[in-house]
Amino acid sequence: MLNPETTKSPPLPSILLVEDSATTAVLLSKYLAGTYRLVHANDGAEAWDLLQGDPHIELVITDINMPRLTGHELLIRIRESENPHLKNMPVIVMTTTADNTDRNLAFRNGANDFIAKPIDEMELQARVNVHHKLAQTIRELEASQRALAEQATTDPLTRLKNRRAFFENGAKHLSVARRYNTDFSIIAADLDHFKRVNDTYGHQGGDEALIAVAGILLQLTRTEDTVARVGGEEFAMLLPDTNRLGAAVLAERIRVAVETERFTVVEKSIQLTLSIGVASFAVERVDSVDQLLNIADQRLYVAKRQGRNRICVTDDGKSNFVPGT
Ligand code: GH3
Ligand code: MG
Ligand code: MG
Ligand code: MG
Repeated sequence: MLNPETTKSPPLPSILLVEDSATTAVLLSKYLAGTYRLVHANDGAEAWDLLQGDPHIELVITDINMPRLTGHELLIRIRESENPHLKNMPVIVMTTTADNTDRNLAFRNGANDFIAKPIDEMELQARVNVHHKLAQTIRELEASQRALAEQATTDPLTRLKNRRAFFENGAKHLSVARRYNTDFSIIAADLDHFKRVNDTYGHQGGDEALIAVAGILLQLTRTEDTVARVGGEEFAMLLPDTNRLGAAVLAERIRVAVETERFTVVEKSIQLTLSIGVASFAVERVDSVDQLLNIADQRLYVAKRQGRNRICVTDDGKSNFVPGT
């Protein structure tokens, strides 16, 4: 038996037809039937309401002379809209007037095309098809640009930000902190004895563990924080508007969360720990994010030397802030 889900054809693209003459509306619906789904409005005001409520409309064909709101006024509203989908909506204007005044005004107001009445079936179909296709191509192009930009800043394994995004965001936080005399902090974290995880459970097991740790880091941080994978099993976090004490509290919370979690890798339950270094702009007064990350990294290695599974907040590692101790 055929699966109804796979045999269902995709919905027809929606077109809004704005026309106060019922005869013309019926005729145009006939011309475009089968290729498009026609939504009909009797004047510009009704069209404007429909456009607000129906995000699926992909193209507008509008008459000019209509009661309440004319085609010109509707076009101006569309082009001045804050909503980018509306602002970039393809609009084809039609009218019966013989002179070019309406046509020129429509183009000046941002119409994509113009079609004269009486409407020729072939001409209407051709113009609608070309503008619909163009808008679709532009949308696809924009989507692939967004995907590329996202790819360029994302670590493919964990979906965290990558090293590049970490430094890009860091440069912004540094200039904000300088200008407004505010603080920001960096947490650098490295998994302890991670080689053993790979040796025991294979690379696949190691990868699963990295993904799970990334999830914990995302869960414990705020949306305005940047959580990045900056090396194989090394993570770095940028915390805007956060001083050394705040960063130390978060670092300790992360350490405890990882220590207590039971990770499932290649269907086995394992435990992991992290060593963490913290550095804050207001304390270190460095000139670059690179330098601040280096300081956090040095402290991370102090934490490793002191026995791992701990946080280090100062250079000597003696006055480390460890909540609850
Ligand atoms: P330490 O406590 O001193 O940090 O010990 P370690 O074994 O974690 O340290 P080291 O930096 O020497 O080794 C890092 C290991 O992390 C090497 C490699 O086995 C593993 N690793 C790095 N990147 C990846 C990755 O992308 N996937 C997997 N599965 N393992 C990785
Ligand atoms: Mg009319
Ligand atoms: Mg390690
Ligand atoms: Mg390492």
